[in-house]
Amino acid sequence: MEEALLSVQGVCASAGEKPILHGIDLAIGKGETHVLMGPNGAGKSTLGQVIMGNPTYTMTEGAIVLEGKDISEENAAERSRDGLFLSFQAPVEVPGVPLRSFLRAIVAQHPELNLKGKRFKKRIAEILEQLNMSADYLDRELNVGFSGGEKKKIEMLQLLLLKPKLAILDETDSGLDVDALNVVSKAIAAYRAENDGTILLITHNTRILEHLSVDRTHVMVKGHLVAEGDASLIGDIDQHGFEQFGVAEDIEGNKISHALDEDEAPAFDAEAALAHAEAAVKAAEAK
Ligand code: ADP
Ligand code: MG
Repeated sequence: MEEALLSVQGVCASAGEKPILHGIDLAIGKGETHVLMGPNGAGKSTLGQVIMGNPTYTMTEGAIVLEGKDISEENAAERSRDGLFLSFQAPVEVPGVPLRSFLRAIVAQHPELNLKGKRFKKRIAEILEQLNMSADYLDRELNVGFSGGEKKKIEMLQLLLLKPKLAILDETDSGLDVDALNVVSKAIAAYRAENDGTILLITHNTRILEHLSVDRTHVMVKGHLVAEGDASLIGDIDQHGFEQFGVAEDIEGNKISHALDEDEAPAFDAEAALAHAEAAVKAAEAK
């Protein structure tokens, strides 16, 4: 197999004393779109943050390799320059800073984009038009009073501006309105078409996946990847939920709402997935 663009190798990570990820292996090839699904609290966002180098999390084991280079020791700014991009599940609000200034500051950190002065203006105008977004956004304070959908749109604007090698897109739990969903779909399509873009999409919103051709799907439960498959796994989860992976409730003890219809056998070996998850949890606890 050709060397993966991104390879996550045996990654364990904690927040403070709390272990969250337990030995994650994941390889994403250039130009591929991967989807990461799993119940609330599984550790999906944490994986995105750890790949990006968020210092809130400590990677206690394993390595993150981008284009053959081990970037495990790099900080988030260095990883951004290497071509990683993470859209946050909950983007920060920055009062006093107009979106335009924020975008300029980002671009200034990426001289390779060659987007100074007029070229910056032109490129921003192009993207706004492409995404059907009003230029009024540029004068508003960054994310202040923006709806979840609007924040997502701003992130898509950043995605098309930065053209990263790998975009990790973390969807909001609350779900997006149809308008925002369209913008996200359009932006993803443009990113893929224009840059042979590579995507790790974290979601439990299967609607967004209807417009997207997916190469691989990964399922995370309690900090372990318990299943991997092609796009058909998404439909399967849509119908049967995550119980087939041995979870009836999320990490906070809330019941997961999908009901598993006994008449409909899951398309893959649920018992094996459960055994795998249990063994992995035991192994982690024994450490
Ligand atoms: P998901 O995105 O799959 O819903 P998260 O990665 O957000 O899951 O969270 C996984 C688990 O790690 C949850 O129990 C969450 O409360 C915990 N967690 C995440 N970030 C932190 C943090 N900074 N400090 C403490 N616990 C955290
Ligand atoms: Mg999350």
